[in-house]
Amino acid sequence: MDKPAVYPLRVFGAAVVAVRELSPHFRRITFAGADLAAFGVPGPRLDLRIKLLLPVPGHALLPLGGPGGRLDEGWYQEWLRRDQPGRGVIRSYTVRALRTAQDGAELDVDFVHHPTHDGVRAPASDWARAATAGTPIVIIGPNADAITADTPPSDTGIRWDPQGAGHVLLAGDETAVPAISSILEDLPPGVTGHAFLEVPDAHDVGTLTTASSVRVTWLPRSPADAARGELLLRAVNAAVETAQPPYSPQTYAWVAAEAGTVKSLRRHLVSQIGLGPRRSEFRAYWSLGKAGSGGNGTPVDPAAVTSSTH
Ligand SMILES: Cc1cc2nc3c(=O)[nH]c(=O)nc-3n(C[C@H](O)[C@H](O)[C@H](O)COP(=O)(O)OP(=O)(O)OC[C@H]3O[C@@H](n4cnc5c(N)ncnc54)[C@H](O)[C@@H]3O)c2cc1C
Repeated sequence: MDKPAVYPLRVFGAAVVAVRELSPHFRRITFAGADLAAFGVPGPRLDLRIKLLLPVPGHALLPLGGPGGRLDEGWYQEWLRRDQPGRGVIRSYTVRALRTAQDGAELDVDFVHHPTHDGVRAPASDWARAATAGTPIVIIGPNADAITADTPPSDTGIRWDPQGAGHVLLAGDETAVPAISSILEDLPPGVTGHAFLEVPDAHDVGTLTTASSVRVTWLPRSPADAARGELLLRAVNAAVETAQPPYSPQTYAWVAAEAGTVKSLRRHLVSQIGLGPRRSEFRAYWSLGKAGSGGNGTPVDPAAVTSSTH
């Protein structure tokens, strides 16, 4: 008899063990805990994303998950039906690094400090600013004990899927810097192409390592005070016109940024290169004026303390 499929995600309890300012807009937070010994995927992590469940300030979170942090298919809809303030807030982040540790494992997440306006709260950015050693965290991520060779990587939180393409185009804003950094670290020698990273400030430019031949171009918006997304669009458009070898429908494109920027890049790349949906990954990582990770956040209400979206 076939083993019943176990849901590939579970809940992990952990705590902050280190906080490091990487640059004016990036703060690296290291989480650790015995639970994290069971966190992970069998192969490279690439752009592996996790969800963080954060409390509404001053309120305890209702527990999530069954014994051993078990989750089932409909967990997110069930979570949405809970009442605030116990429900808390879910936001998506990228696993920047994962190491085994004496007791379990350590996991790094690079948080962007982002601005908010008109008194709107940004629960994840605010949480990261306030976090210190010992702050607890609830992580929803891949359950190493449930994932098999047959589990599609997309079910574990990995979207990078070049299907053997040897020529790639990556483009992202600051929220995608952790994912692009991690993808580049995992790319094998021989892969060619270009990665474009738009960041708020020249001091946010980092050092990336890759065994591939992918070129990396950082695009700081300051000090020139460029509009958000403008440098990324301009650089990708120029690359499409001049790249050698030229981009083609065989190129794999991976794009993640603010929703409007992703929409413009998608329109351009699909019409100029003829990229098909199976040769590309276009993902809104956040939406201007909306609370929640991804492209479907809820319009921000300055009076609201928090939002229910993920
Ligand atoms: C798969 C995936 C992986 C991600 N990985 C990372 C990661 O590793 N590191 C990271 O920092 N982010 C990452 N993000 C983006 C992050 O989830 C969003 O920026 C999220 O909206 C932050 O939540 P918040 O509670 O701080 O703000 P929200 O409550 O969601 O938004 C509050 C207000 O802030 C604005 N806002 C949100 N994000 C930004 C921003 N970056 N810059 C300017 N304004 C913003 C919103 O438009 C809104 O007006 C990822 C998103 C996805 C989908």
